[in-house]
Amino acid sequence: MRKKIVAGNWKMNTTVPQGVELAKEVVALSKDVKDCLLVVAPPFTHLAPVAEALKGSKVALAAQNCADHTSGAYTGEVAVDMIDSIGCTYCILGHSERRQYYGETDEKLVVKVKLALEKNIKPILCVGENLEEREAGKHFDVVTSQIKNVLYTLTAEEMKNIVVAYEPVWAIGTGKTATAEQAQEIHAAIRKCLADKFGAQVAEDTTILYGGSCKPSNAKELFAQKDIDGGLIGGAALKAADFIAIAQSY
Ligand code: PEP
Repeated sequence: MRKKIVAGNWKMNTTVPQGVELAKEVVALSKDVKDCLLVVAPPFTHLAPVAEALKGSKVALAAQNCADHTSGAYTGEVAVDMIDSIGCTYCILGHSERRQYYGETDEKLVVKVKLALEKNIKPILCVGENLEEREAGKHFDVVTSQIKNVLYTLTAEEMKNIVVAYEPVWAIGTGKTATAEQAQEIHAAIRKCLADKFGAQVAEDTTILYGGSCKPSNAKELFAQKDIDGGLIGGAALKAADFIAIAQSY
Protein backbone atom coordinates (compact mmCIF):
# COMPACT_ATOMS: atom_id res chain seq x y z
CA MET A 1 0.00 0.00 0.00
CA ARG A 2 1.44 3.36 -0.95
CA LYS A 3 1.78 6.08 1.64
CA LYS A 4 -0.81 8.88 1.83
CA ILE A 5 0.83 12.22 2.44
CA VAL A 6 -0.37 15.76 2.98
CA ALA A 7 2.56 18.18 2.83
CA GLY A 8 2.45 21.89 3.56
CA ASN A 9 4.69 24.17 1.53
CA TRP A 10 4.93 27.37 3.55
CA LYS A 11 6.96 29.06 0.78
CA MET A 12 8.42 32.45 1.89
CA ASN A 13 5.79 33.06 4.55
CA THR A 14 5.84 33.59 8.34
CA THR A 15 8.54 34.93 10.64
CA VAL A 16 10.38 32.38 12.77
CA PRO A 17 8.12 32.84 15.84
CA GLN A 18 4.99 32.66 13.64
CA GLY A 19 6.33 29.51 11.97
CA VAL A 20 7.06 27.83 15.29
CA GLU A 21 3.55 28.70 16.47
CA LEU A 22 2.07 27.23 13.28
CA ALA A 23 4.13 24.05 13.71
CA LYS A 24 2.91 23.69 17.30
CA GLU A 25 -0.70 24.09 16.17
CA VAL A 26 -0.19 21.45 13.46
CA VAL A 27 1.30 19.07 16.03
CA ALA A 28 -1.60 19.64 18.43
CA LEU A 29 -4.21 18.97 15.73
CA SER A 30 -2.26 16.10 14.12
CA LYS A 31 -3.53 13.73 16.78
CA ASP A 32 -6.86 13.65 14.93
CA VAL A 33 -5.28 12.57 11.63
CA LYS A 34 -5.28 8.88 10.81
CA ASP A 35 -3.50 6.97 8.06
CA CYS A 36 -1.91 9.99 6.47
CA LEU A 37 1.60 11.31 6.96
CA LEU A 38 1.82 15.03 7.59
CA VAL A 39 4.86 16.93 6.35
CA VAL A 40 5.65 20.63 6.82
CA ALA A 41 8.13 22.55 4.68
CA PRO A 42 9.02 25.87 6.33
CA PRO A 43 11.68 28.29 5.04
CA PHE A 44 15.33 27.36 5.77
CA THR A 45 15.57 29.86 8.64
CA HIS A 46 12.78 28.05 10.48
CA LEU A 47 14.00 24.47 10.14
CA ALA A 48 15.87 24.16 13.46
CA PRO A 49 13.19 25.64 15.75
CA VAL A 50 10.40 23.91 13.81
CA ALA A 51 12.28 20.59 14.13
CA GLU A 52 12.26 21.20 17.88
CA ALA A 53 8.52 21.93 17.85
CA LEU A 54 7.85 18.71 15.91
CA LYS A 55 9.86 16.51 18.29
CA GLY A 56 7.86 13.56 19.59
CA SER A 57 5.12 14.09 16.97
CA LYS A 58 4.44 12.18 13.77
CA VAL A 59 4.79 15.31 11.64
CA ALA A 60 7.79 15.11 9.30
CA LEU A 61 10.02 18.01 8.30
CA ALA A 62 10.89 19.02 4.74
CA ALA A 63 13.08 21.67 3.17
CA GLN A 64 11.73 23.60 0.18
CA ASN A 65 14.91 23.16 -1.86
CA CYS A 66 18.55 22.15 -1.57
CA ALA A 67 21.78 23.02 -3.38
CA ASP A 68 23.11 21.11 -6.37
CA HIS A 69 26.55 20.90 -4.71
CA THR A 70 27.61 19.17 -1.52
CA SER A 71 29.52 22.05 0.12
CA GLY A 72 31.91 24.91 -0.56
CA ALA A 73 31.90 28.32 -2.17
CA TYR A 74 28.22 28.65 -3.12
CA THR A 75 27.08 31.74 -1.26
CA GLY A 76 23.45 31.68 -0.23
CA GLU A 77 22.95 27.98 -0.93
CA VAL A 78 21.95 25.27 1.55
CA ALA A 79 23.40 21.78 1.15
CA VAL A 80 21.58 18.54 1.62
CA ASP A 81 23.94 17.61 4.49
CA MET A 82 22.75 20.70 6.32
CA ILE A 83 19.07 19.95 6.01
CA ASP A 84 19.78 16.33 6.93
CA SER A 85 21.66 17.38 10.07
CA ILE A 86 18.69 19.42 11.22
CA GLY A 87 16.21 16.57 10.91
CA CYS A 88 14.61 16.97 7.48
CA THR A 89 13.44 13.69 6.00
CA TYR A 90 11.84 15.19 2.85
CA CYS A 91 12.86 17.91 0.41
CA ILE A 92 10.60 19.59 -2.14
CA LEU A 93 12.45 19.79 -5.45
CA GLY A 94 11.52 21.36 -8.77
CA HIS A 95 8.63 23.47 -7.53
CA SER A 96 7.30 25.50 -10.45
CA GLU A 97 8.24 28.73 -8.68
CA ARG A 98 11.86 27.56 -8.59
CA ARG A 99 11.67 26.43 -12.22
CA GLN A 100 10.13 29.76 -13.25
CA TYR A 101 12.05 32.31 -11.14
CA TYR A 102 15.35 30.60 -10.30
CA GLY A 103 16.23 28.72 -13.46
CA GLU A 104 15.73 25.26 -12.01
CA THR A 105 16.16 22.84 -14.91
CA ASP A 106 15.55 19.12 -15.14
CA GLU A 107 19.35 18.67 -15.43
CA LYS A 108 19.88 20.43 -12.10
CA LEU A 109 17.06 18.44 -10.58
CA VAL A 110 18.74 15.16 -11.50
CA VAL A 111 21.75 16.27 -9.42
CA LYS A 112 19.64 17.50 -6.50
CA VAL A 113 17.47 14.38 -6.42
CA LYS A 114 20.56 12.15 -6.33
CA LEU A 115 22.25 14.20 -3.60
CA ALA A 116 19.07 14.02 -1.50
CA LEU A 117 18.72 10.27 -1.99
CA GLU A 118 22.34 9.71 -0.96
CA LYS A 119 21.43 11.27 2.41
CA ASN A 120 18.20 9.28 2.71
CA ILE A 121 16.17 12.42 2.19
CA LYS A 122 13.05 11.75 0.17
CA PRO A 123 12.58 14.18 -2.70
CA ILE A 124 9.06 15.45 -3.37
CA LEU A 125 9.57 16.10 -7.07
CA CYS A 126 7.14 18.65 -8.52
CA VAL A 127 6.00 18.50 -12.13
CA GLY A 128 3.27 20.35 -13.97
CA GLU A 129 2.32 22.26 -17.09
CA ASN A 130 1.63 25.98 -17.41
CA LEU A 131 -1.57 27.49 -18.79
CA GLU A 132 -0.24 27.91 -22.32
CA GLU A 133 0.86 24.27 -22.43
CA ARG A 134 -2.51 23.11 -21.06
CA GLU A 135 -4.42 25.19 -23.63
CA ALA A 136 -2.25 23.81 -26.42
CA GLY A 137 -3.12 20.28 -25.27
CA LYS A 138 0.52 19.56 -24.39
CA HIS A 139 0.00 18.80 -20.69
CA PHE A 140 0.56 15.05 -20.91
CA ASP A 141 3.76 15.52 -22.93
CA VAL A 142 5.13 18.24 -20.65
CA VAL A 143 4.53 16.27 -17.47
CA THR A 144 5.78 12.93 -18.78
CA SER A 145 8.94 14.61 -20.16
CA GLN A 146 9.65 16.14 -16.75
CA ILE A 147 9.20 12.71 -15.17
CA LYS A 148 11.42 11.01 -17.74
CA ASN A 149 14.14 13.66 -17.68
CA VAL A 150 14.57 13.40 -13.93
CA LEU A 151 13.26 10.08 -12.67
CA TYR A 152 14.31 7.83 -15.55
CA THR A 153 17.92 8.43 -14.42
CA LEU A 154 17.18 6.54 -11.17
CA THR A 155 17.10 2.85 -10.33
CA ALA A 156 13.91 1.06 -9.26
CA GLU A 157 15.42 0.84 -5.76
CA GLU A 158 15.94 4.63 -5.65
CA MET A 159 12.39 5.19 -6.87
CA LYS A 160 11.10 3.73 -3.59
CA ASN A 161 12.12 6.97 -1.88
CA ILE A 162 10.58 9.35 -4.40
CA VAL A 163 7.32 11.23 -3.97
CA VAL A 164 5.89 12.94 -7.05
CA ALA A 165 3.70 16.05 -6.85
CA TYR A 166 1.62 17.00 -9.87
CA GLU A 167 1.04 20.75 -9.67
CA PRO A 168 -0.51 22.41 -12.71
CA VAL A 169 1.12 25.85 -12.69
CA TRP A 170 -2.16 27.55 -13.61
CA ALA A 171 -3.73 26.20 -10.42
CA ILE A 172 -1.00 27.28 -7.97
CA GLY A 173 -2.10 30.14 -5.76
CA THR A 174 -4.74 31.17 -8.30
CA GLY A 175 -7.81 29.69 -6.65
CA LYS A 176 -8.35 27.61 -9.84
CA THR A 177 -8.17 23.94 -8.96
CA ALA A 178 -7.82 21.24 -11.57
CA THR A 179 -11.05 19.24 -11.62
CA ALA A 180 -10.79 15.84 -10.01
CA GLU A 181 -10.98 14.31 -13.51
CA GLN A 182 -8.22 16.54 -14.91
CA ALA A 183 -5.98 15.69 -11.97
CA GLN A 184 -6.77 11.97 -12.05
CA GLU A 185 -5.98 11.58 -15.75
CA ILE A 186 -2.55 13.16 -15.31
CA HIS A 187 -1.84 11.15 -12.17
CA ALA A 188 -2.72 7.98 -14.06
CA ALA A 189 -0.41 9.05 -16.92
CA ILE A 190 2.42 9.66 -14.45
CA ARG A 191 1.90 6.24 -12.90
CA LYS A 192 1.88 4.63 -16.36
CA CYS A 193 5.07 6.50 -17.27
CA LEU A 194 6.72 5.14 -14.11
CA ALA A 195 5.42 1.63 -14.81
CA ASP A 196 6.91 1.72 -18.34
CA LYS A 197 10.38 2.22 -16.91
CA PHE A 198 10.34 0.65 -13.45
CA GLY A 199 7.55 -1.92 -13.64
CA ALA A 200 4.01 -2.03 -12.33
CA GLN A 201 4.90 -2.63 -8.69
CA VAL A 202 7.19 0.40 -8.33
CA ALA A 203 4.57 2.56 -10.05
CA GLU A 204 1.82 1.21 -7.79
CA ASP A 205 3.91 1.97 -4.71
CA THR A 206 4.80 5.56 -5.67
CA THR A 207 2.94 8.29 -3.82
CA ILE A 208 1.67 10.95 -6.24
CA LEU A 209 0.36 14.14 -4.67
CA TYR A 210 -1.85 16.80 -6.21
CA GLY A 211 -1.07 20.48 -5.63
CA GLY A 212 -2.78 23.65 -6.79
CA SER A 213 -5.37 25.56 -4.75
CA CYS A 214 -6.23 22.45 -2.76
CA LYS A 215 -8.35 23.37 0.26
CA PRO A 216 -10.74 21.71 2.72
CA SER A 217 -13.69 22.24 0.37
CA ASN A 218 -12.18 20.39 -2.62
CA ALA A 219 -9.73 17.95 -1.03
CA LYS A 220 -12.29 15.20 -0.51
CA GLU A 221 -13.18 14.93 -4.19
CA LEU A 222 -9.55 15.12 -5.30
CA PHE A 223 -8.34 12.54 -2.77
CA ALA A 224 -11.16 10.16 -3.74
CA GLN A 225 -9.45 9.65 -7.12
CA LYS A 226 -7.71 6.33 -7.59
CA ASP A 227 -4.26 7.74 -8.38
CA ILE A 228 -4.23 10.76 -6.06
CA ASP A 229 -2.42 9.91 -2.85
CA GLY A 230 -2.61 13.21 -1.03
CA GLY A 231 -1.68 16.82 -1.55
CA LEU A 232 1.08 19.38 -1.62
CA ILE A 233 -0.61 22.38 -0.09
CA GLY A 234 0.50 26.01 -0.33
CA GLY A 235 -1.84 28.75 0.91
CA ALA A 236 -4.09 26.48 2.96
CA ALA A 237 -1.08 25.06 4.83
CA LEU A 238 -0.60 28.41 6.57
CA LYS A 239 -3.68 27.79 8.70
CA ALA A 240 -3.26 24.71 10.86
CA ALA A 241 -7.00 24.01 10.99
CA ASP A 242 -7.31 24.06 7.17
CA PHE A 243 -4.19 21.97 6.71
CA ILE A 244 -5.50 19.35 9.12
CA ALA A 245 -9.00 19.46 7.61
CA ILE A 246 -7.41 18.65 4.23
CA ALA A 247 -5.56 15.70 5.76
CA GLN A 248 -8.83 14.50 7.27
CA SER A 249 -10.45 14.42 3.84
CA TYR A 250 -9.64 10.76 3.30
C1 PEP B 1 2.19 25.01 -4.00
O1 PEP B 1 2.80 26.05 -4.16
O2 PEP B 1 2.82 23.94 -3.90
C2 PEP B 1 0.73 25.07 -3.98
C3 PEP B 1 0.07 23.99 -4.24
O3 PEP B 1 0.17 26.30 -3.69
P1 PEP B 1 -1.40 26.62 -3.47
O4 PEP B 1 -1.97 25.49 -2.64
O5 PEP B 1 -1.41 27.92 -2.74
O6 PEP B 1 -2.00 26.68 -4.82
